[in-house]
Amino acid sequence: IPVEDFDLVIFGGTGDLARRKILPGLFRRFLAGQMPKGARIIGAARSELDDAGYRKMVDEAIGEFGGVDAKRADLDAFLAQLHYITVDARGTDGWSELHDLIRFDLVNAFYFSVAPSLFGDLAERLHDYKIADDDSRIVVEKPFGRDLETAQALNNTLAQHFDETQIYRIDHYLGKETVQNLMAVRFGNLLFEPLWNNHYIDHIQITVAETVGVEGRGAYYDQAGAMRDMVQNHLMQLLCLIAMEAPSVFDADAVRDEKLKVIRALQEPAPHHIVRGQYDASKTAPGYREEAGNPQSHTESFIALRCEIANWRWAGVPFYLRTGKKLKARSSEITVVYKDIGHSIFPGDEKRHRNILRIQLQPNEGMELQVTIKEPGPGGMRLIDVPLDMTFAEALGPDAEDSTDAYERLIMDVIRGNQTLFMRGDEVEAAWRWTDPIIEGWQRRGDVPKLYDQGTTGPEDALMLLHREGRRWQGIK
Ligand code: NAD
Repeated sequence: IPVEDFDLVIFGGTGDLARRKILPGLFRRFLAGQMPKGARIIGAARSELDDAGYRKMVDEAIGEFGGVDAKRADLDAFLAQLHYITVDARGTDGWSELHDLIRFDLVNAFYFSVAPSLFGDLAERLHDYKIADDDSRIVVEKPFGRDLETAQALNNTLAQHFDETQIYRIDHYLGKETVQNLMAVRFGNLLFEPLWNNHYIDHIQITVAETVGVEGRGAYYDQAGAMRDMVQNHLMQLLCLIAMEAPSVFDADAVRDEKLKVIRALQEPAPHHIVRGQYDASKTAPGYREEAGNPQSHTESFIALRCEIANWRWAGVPFYLRTGKKLKARSSEITVVYKDIGHSIFPGDEKRHRNILRIQLQPNEGMELQVTIKEPGPGGMRLIDVPLDMTFAEALGPDAEDSTDAYERLIMDVIRGNQTLFMRGDEVEAAWRWTDPIIEGWQRRGDVPKLYDQGTTGPEDALMLLHREGRRWQGIK
């Protein structure tokens, strides 16, 4: 369904994120017929470019990152909807011109794809130059603060100029098809929800594993670490969706109210339930400390932790979260492990049978349910566990192969004015309220991350976190 005409201004429109994700994503929406002819995308950044120079840059970016074999005519039609304006977020350059360019009778949105230190400056100038009005939307990238105090300060700054209903804090994990399908499966079937609690679920795992290191982000990353960079936002958001109560209606505030309750009920993990790691140098590749340019660094490039949610549904059910860099495989997965069946009626069947729901987000999106069936053939009543594919590509046809990237889906939600898949200010603050004491504990105790070999599943202790409770990690194959 096409959206209405809009003006989308991308501050930082020449940056890495804009070139790799936002602009190629918008082009794919254009190809899908979702971007109306009257829509305009306005790149706004410090570089001295004109429309033609910007179009050339975006053309190259689509060639490199677009992931589509586009026809020249389509590319040209898309590029014709692009404009560029040189602005200085901290100065006066470009702002009056930007004001004159915006069509105030249409939906207008401003994507802050710049360093967070500029968010306040942008918000202030959009207001002072009367570029944004009460209907404008702003899209804010992560990181949203580095602790509760900075997140609150950022929320307060934005709140001076924008109402909460205008602020779209992006977490691209929420834009993934499978994440939304998770809600459809949970709340659109009778089959899952009655069992979705501590009577039937043994534990839940969330793994986000990367094969890359800190790459060019070393300076930033060394101040953040896996806890701030991944757990406080992405893993926390996934945890919320898996653990929340059913909202009474699928709308932005109803969903976010339920997610907030989960974060508030999340217990602080005991120190022995947290494993921090740092990737070591290998014969051929530098280690974390060299890459981060800090030989003394105690920042974690890996974390695994066990936490619990203190409410009736989840009391006693461990949630194991794990994320790290330079691991064996790129893989993001939520795994819901049900309890073993209470009693086997089949003589000789000594295997433990349990259902496992796997929700894969990367590298491929998909959902499968492990079920136990009879092994086909004349071998008698022998049981095997097999995965039941729940993505139903065959039943749904080509649409099931939807390759819409999370960013493009979320940008279209901004234009539609749908905040359901964006984080609310109080959610972000609650997540920091949980994160801060954990990080402070490490600092107080002088905690040093364990070294781990590159290309593995992280430190041995992370395996032990589950082994000593008779469980094992799923996820990284
Ligand atoms: P980048 O350094 O590649 O680009 C920064 C952009 O900001 C450039 O277009 C630059 O011209 C512009 N800019 C800098 N100073 C300016 C000023 N004073 N006035 C106007 N424009 C100015 O950064 P990036 O990697 O594209 O990241 C942008 C934001 O997105 C950051 O907040 C980052 O944390 C976040 N983010 C990036 C990624 C990613 O994959 N690159 C992923 C998640 C979040």
